[in-house]
Amino acid sequence: MQMQVLEYQPVSAILICEILPVMKFEEAVCSGDAPENCAVCLNDFEVGEKIRWLTNCKHIFHRSCLDRWMDHDQKTCPLCRTSFVPDEMQDEEFNQQLWLWDH
Ligand SMILES: [Zn+2]
Ligand SMILES: [Zn+2]
Repeated sequence: MQMQVLEYQPVSAILICEILPVMKFEEAVCSGDAPENCAVCLNDFEVGEKIRWLTNCKHIFHRSCLDRWMDHDQKTCPLCRTSFVPDEMQDEEFNQQLWLWDH
């Protein structure tokens, strides 16, 4: 793994994978009350589509929609504006510890 990820942004890519896991829509439905459509593109979710689940606020979006959203340097939920990263995780020291645990 490359250390440059850490320098690139405060929240590492690894962390993004853990707090915004990708899953299939039907898996998300099983884990709670999932909405029927994506608030970014307003299209209904289809069975088999890849979605990202925001563990912090429990909203789901198409994976491609959320990735595009993050490309604009957004770090909050498009729907409720909750930060992707829980407050305690924004602490830099905590991030580094997490990084160490992962490797
Ligand atoms: Zn979408
Ligand atoms: Zn949300």
